[in-house]
Amino acid sequence: MKTVAALLLALTSSAPLSALADNLHTPARRAPELPTSERAEVETLLDRELQQAVESEPLLPGQKKVVITTTLNPGNREMLIDLGRDAVPATAGAASERQCHFLMTEAISILKDAVRIDGYTCTYGGKDIFYYHPDLPATTPAADTTKEERQDGPPVVVMVSAGHGYFYNGVSRQWETRRPLMNGMREDFVTPYFARDVAADLINKSHMSVAKARTNEATIHAPSNQPWWRMSARTWLESQYPDNPEIWNSLNNDNDPDGHEDDDIRARPLFANHVNASYSLHIHTNGSTNTSIRGTLGFYQRDRQDDARFVARMLCSMKETIQAHPFYRNWSVDLQPRYGNYGELRLTDPSKRAALIEVGFHSNAQDATALKSEAFRTAAAAGMAKGIRLYHEGKNCETFKIDSIPDVIGSVNTPFSYLISYSGNPTYPVKVYSQPVSCPSGWSCSRFHRTVNSPTRSPITQEINCSSNNVGQSGTFRYKRWLVDADGVSTAPFEQTYTCNAAM
Ligand SMILES: [Zn+2]
Repeated sequence: MKTVAALLLALTSSAPLSALADNLHTPARRAPELPTSERAEVETLLDRELQQAVESEPLLPGQKKVVITTTLNPGNREMLIDLGRDAVPATAGAASERQCHFLMTEAISILKDAVRIDGYTCTYGGKDIFYYHPDLPATTPAADTTKEERQDGPPVVVMVSAGHGYFYNGVSRQWETRRPLMNGMREDFVTPYFARDVAADLINKSHMSVAKARTNEATIHAPSNQPWWRMSARTWLESQYPDNPEIWNSLNNDNDPDGHEDDDIRARPLFANHVNASYSLHIHTNGSTNTSIRGTLGFYQRDRQDDARFVARMLCSMKETIQAHPFYRNWSVDLQPRYGNYGELRLTDPSKRAALIEVGFHSNAQDATALKSEAFRTAAAAGMAKGIRLYHEGKNCETFKIDSIPDVIGSVNTPFSYLISYSGNPTYPVKVYSQPVSCPSGWSCSRFHRTVNSPTRSPITQEINCSSNNVGQSGTFRYKRWLVDADGVSTAPFEQTYTCNAAM
């Protein structure tokens, strides 16, 4: 077997990631299993690769130089990325988070399938960024109590946040975005479509309330002359909550070119706290200098284990709904939630759940095509919404399958029932498909489906009706049956035999 270091060397040369992963017939190794000597080699490699990556980007305001030193921490499967004392940026906010996330994504693309690391932390001369720039805590969960509560308890609110969007740069006096146009898409203007579709699923299929941090309205925001749906949460929430600047203008930074972007990041969790959202979902797309890396990743705020479970539920459900689509059967969803330190997550009321989903890589051409396609978006949105529902209902993510359909015997011209036992947590309505496998002579059999509208615990009861005008006619039938849920997730077919005896 290849050593981890040899594998990483190969990975960082030119071979495509997926091909190498296929050759590695062992599961990803956890850092604790990595011998010390190999760990040192891997760290040296990471230092070199991340140094190269960070030098491909401009320094942030305040940074003199960046010198990368990585440490794989065996105890907690964590990776520390130290940028050096001279890399302390002028402020802690959107720009430093973007740089840290960029380095983390590079590390993930290098370590993927070789070494399992669950969490990433950026430090500066060994210290957290908040050592230099103390974090302003979230002020008040000043929850909005004006909403009327229904008889059956308050509605469950989900805050759905589409990443980024136009914000105002008070220094250049321009409306700006910070994400690149890559493979024909810009993250800022793709995420609102995902947010719209997740919101629709949460409302229609899960009967939850949704509060969106950005809008999908197409009317024009006059100052920028852009449609409202392109504006950041900071700008949108200012228009919706003019009397609550503590949500959208929580920092005193109007003279910083990134000031409103920093406010924007904070506005999302502060808005979630304001509307008392039980769950928050932050939707992003990912970028990497390694254009071969693909697929879905999920993040939570470090030390929040309930959030890890919440993210895990969402990733597992996304794998189910995305791979249910024939075109995306091989779409990669990394089921392991990873932790980091994100303003979007950190400021969320810790008693509430928050997830950050990187749906795919806009830096990869095939992923970008999927991110722009309605079929992919529908499937991915269904998975995110389902993950939230499963977590809320205390259910696990398990494979949707038929466990049994017992054979039955009944009488001609008298309807009789049969049972379909299933496992999994399908989204209703569920369709029951039936297709004849064998049909006795003298009878006509055809393919058909019936719809079960309300959520039904296993087993589902269905009816058979053999109708015949021929006195004394009996028959034994074999059908294959399968279930398809509202998200397009299908069970494997299951065969059943039933007999209709001639009426006495
Ligand atoms: Zn993003």
